[in-house]
Amino acid sequence: MKRTYFTLLFCISALAWASAQFKLPSLTYRYSALEPYIDSTTMYIHLNNHHAAYVNNLNKTLEKYPDLQQLSIEELLANLNKVPTDIQTAIKNNGGGHYNHSLFWTLLAPVSSSKISPALEQKLSKSFGSLDAFKVEFEKAALSRFGSGWVWLIKNNTGDLQIISTPNQESPIMSSADVKGIPVLLLDVWEHAYYLKYQSKRAAYVKAFWNVVNWQEVEKRVDQK
Ligand code: MN
Repeated sequence: MKRTYFTLLFCISALAWASAQFKLPSLTYRYSALEPYIDSTTMYIHLNNHHAAYVNNLNKTLEKYPDLQQLSIEELLANLNKVPTDIQTAIKNNGGGHYNHSLFWTLLAPVSSSKISPALEQKLSKSFGSLDAFKVEFEKAALSRFGSGWVWLIKNNTGDLQIISTPNQESPIMSSADVKGIPVLLLDVWEHAYYLKYQSKRAAYVKAFWNVVNWQEVEKRVDQK
């Protein structure tokens, strides 16, 4: 029953977006592929309700701006300071939400499908002391982000790997970012990302995340010139 309802909701939504500039991506794995670490209901709702709302609201915001519709989401966020001031916040929230989630899905992988390579482990060890030390620092950033936001591993402007966190839907590719860089890995720490399964236990969700990281995608991004 729930499945039918979701399918119907999805079809209606898909029709509404058919002509829109920005589109909701499809996952390359099943909603249940990250079980038991991230449950399939959370994945379904996260993509089709939360992420979809950001896409929908972004397209509505840009309805009267055909020039801005021509930009990629990365270009739009990198030039946030140049868009009309009355739509800057809407783009920051909804464009940011679209970009962050689109990237997040690609950095997750089905359980046991992705192992970290010795080369990547060595790079993380060089920056953080060891793989475990990297994880500890990343988890600390995830837990100390007050309220809603994201934690990131980025390659910063000097080429170093660095862990940062951002509030709400902000990101290191925005013109307004305090610390800019190429996103390498990110984790959604909004309650909607984990509340169904973990309730208020954000720490347990953050620890579980390591079981579903797409390390191949992380490595590709680390090696990006
Ligand atoms: Mn989210």
